[in-house]
Amino acid sequence: MISSLIARILPKKRIRQPRIYHAAQHTIRAGQIDPAALSVIRRLHSSGFQAFVVGGAVRDLLLERRPKDFDIATNATPEQIKPLFRRAFIIGRRFKLVHVHVGRDVIEVSTFRTVQTDENATDEHGRLLSDNVYGTQSEDAMRRDFTVNALYFDPLSEEIWDYVGGVNDIRARRLKLIGSPVTRYREDPVRMLRAVRLAGKLDLTIAPSSEKPLRKLAGLMAHIPPTRLFEETQKLLLSGNAEKNITEVRHYHLLPGLDALLLDENAEHFAALALKHTDDRINIGKTVSPAYLFGALLWPMVTRERDVLLAAGGKPLPALLEAIDTVFERYAHKLAMPRRFQTMIRDIWVSQPRFEQRSGQRPYRLFGQPKFRAAYDFMLMRGENGEVPEELCRWWTLFQDADEEGRQLLIHQLAKTTDDKRSRHRRRRKTAAKLAANGAESS
Ligand code: ATP
Ligand code: MG
Repeated sequence: MISSLIARILPKKRIRQPRIYHAAQHTIRAGQIDPAALSVIRRLHSSGFQAFVVGGAVRDLLLERRPKDFDIATNATPEQIKPLFRRAFIIGRRFKLVHVHVGRDVIEVSTFRTVQTDENATDEHGRLLSDNVYGTQSEDAMRRDFTVNALYFDPLSEEIWDYVGGVNDIRARRLKLIGSPVTRYREDPVRMLRAVRLAGKLDLTIAPSSEKPLRKLAGLMAHIPPTRLFEETQKLLLSGNAEKNITEVRHYHLLPGLDALLLDENAEHFAALALKHTDDRINIGKTVSPAYLFGALLWPMVTRERDVLLAAGGKPLPALLEAIDTVFERYAHKLAMPRRFQTMIRDIWVSQPRFEQRSGQRPYRLFGQPKFRAAYDFMLMRGENGEVPEELCRWWTLFQDADEEGRQLLIHQLAKTTDDKRSRHRRRRKTAAKLAANGAESS
């Protein structure tokens, strides 16, 4: 009797059953799983636990892409996982997970979690304050963001367990939030940026129901803690897909800080150049510095501020330095840019006028600066944007590639042409003065 009473008072918990895809019904094979992850899963299984590859890796394999990493989800708690491995460390204070070290690899193992749904679990905007409670596998699936990210692959049976229709969505190349999109974006507005980034990266279309609320909810971005916003902005910018990502993000106004910076065509153009260069470098396997990119996004604002000061009679260098301070103060936090980037960005910016000084030892001194390469790349970009003469860019490219003799020659030639120009100028002035004097005499 009591149990039927309890059953009536407590909301019925719907136990979801997964749709199980057997090996013959999909393309993922155990051989595609990283051996270290495989060994961790075997160990958990043999100790009587469930363990699956989960999230991005399963999604990527179904899309025939190479996964970045292989995360594992299990019903074992961190305290149960740790003693099973020689080198395993429980990390995270708020939410504990286990890092299992296998050779040089680190495999992240997390316990199935659920989302708390009571009122205290969210702030006044509906943002989740904690996702810290262990749960069942089906609850773990439901707390994930997109259906394609909530698939579990068991390499021992080669089965995919799907609680949310993720396999069908992958087949339809559809990125769809699990549950009510508005609630899920409110719980964690970063999901809006993830939608744009994952759709771009994986060439998926955001499902209409998940796409529709984006513009309307863009204002929620203001409530994301800066460190998370920065982390996700970095991912958008450093994925090799920045140009496309930023176009989409701007379409939905998801980064108001960026909208505030790209005020005119010049700023748009410079940002587009910077994003394209970043993508090009990443796509050929070169490294990029996020500070450099942030420096580029902020630069048009610096020139704008500097020009105002110059127009008011300021001198070039002090005007530049003051403009830099103003921009850091007013705009850097809008991009959630960490303060530690400021030193590098300032170095790059302050170096810019020094590229114009090419006599004597000056080019060598600039060349010897630790940030020379970044500052030079930055100058080339300004060249492409029409801010610096092509001749200056060409000269510095030659200077860098030249040997000592070549460098001397470049400085010498430049001094000569400058001298020539000066003396030509002087001669012209003299002639003009003479003519004027003659004219005055003859009249
Ligand atoms: P990537 O290839 O960029 O790493 P990913 O999907 O693996 O993409 P991660 O940030 O590594 O992204 O997250 C791993 C998994 O955790 C995701 O696949 C998803 O299931 C879940 N997840 C990540 N972020 C969120 C979020 N904001 N809300 C809900 N679930 C999330
Ligand atoms: Mg991942």
